[in-house]
Amino acid sequence: MHSYSLTAPAKINLYLEILGDRSDGYHELVMILQSIELADQIDIRSLSTDDIRVSCNHPQVPQDETNLAYKAAKLMTERFPDVFAQFGGVEITINKQIPVAAGLAGGSTDAAAVLVGIDMMWQLGLTHPELQELAQQLGSDVPFCIAGGTALATGRGEQLSPLPDLDSLYVVLGKYRSIAVSTPWAYKSYRSEFGDSYIRKTEDLESRAAQVHSGPMVKAIANKDGSEIGQLLHNDLEKVVLPAYPQVSQLRDTFQNSGALGVMMSGSGPTVFALCESQAQAQEIEQQIRSKIPDPDLDFWVTKFCSTGIRII
Ligand code: ATP
Repeated sequence: MHSYSLTAPAKINLYLEILGDRSDGYHELVMILQSIELADQIDIRSLSTDDIRVSCNHPQVPQDETNLAYKAAKLMTERFPDVFAQFGGVEITINKQIPVAAGLAGGSTDAAAVLVGIDMMWQLGLTHPELQELAQQLGSDVPFCIAGGTALATGRGEQLSPLPDLDSLYVVLGKYRSIAVSTPWAYKSYRSEFGDSYIRKTEDLESRAAQVHSGPMVKAIANKDGSEIGQLLHNDLEKVVLPAYPQVSQLRDTFQNSGALGVMMSGSGPTVFALCESQAQAQEIEQQIRSKIPDPDLDFWVTKFCSTGIRII
């Protein structure tokens, strides 16, 4: 086939702990990542020229070589020059539904979809480890986005251990349209404020990461215990993002009093999510928050956990 349509789900972080610095300049992290049904649609098709073209319906998303989907296609053309010469260039159309710069890995999941789509279109038959290796070149969240579901991520976020599926829970996401948080800014601010408390010794980093592997959150996920998961939600980046963005902090407080199983900011924010046991509870909480904060700049999404990453439509 010369064209494919793919669903590229967003993710939320159920857990994000910053352990320390790495020699490559990134942070050593322990995260629990969860795919949600809120997704972009990516259409890719072969071109008769050797161009890579990207178009997107969202004004904040670049349509040039800085788009992560473009970078994913470029990487494939560099890795597989003979196949590229045979099949020609690639046109990528992004139907953006995931809010941008929101802590939901919107760009990363688009890039993951392009890797999977080109693998299919060029009949490369790449193995999962081969796709993961390509994904790592593009960003820390891209490897997770390929298979999605529920996973524990260590290192920069690229070392993944799958966890049992959690597809019965719902979330309400809240995000101010006019607020975007830069992920590099959030991590840099965390380093300058909390760098003194970083774990320095490699063996201590490893034992801390191992504790999370067998810790209470992983047990709660194995037991599919929504209330316990809600209690154990954690995100170190809240410590720098919430003080810098009082509106986000206020939104979080309002969600906190809504009766949800738990409330947390996702990734580097500014999206705040409330964990819910049913769609009805999620819709009720959305209405409650809308009436408490009647701000036209505040958008909401009710969506469900999902157990898959990139899917071909
Ligand atoms: P993460 O959670 O992985 O840190 P994010 O969800 O906070 O990411 P993105 O939506 O990926 O953030 O956008 C971050 C920046 O990347 C945006 O400001 C945008 O200009 C740029 N960008 C490049 N490619 C894309 C893409 N395909 N979709 C969205 N943003 C993109």
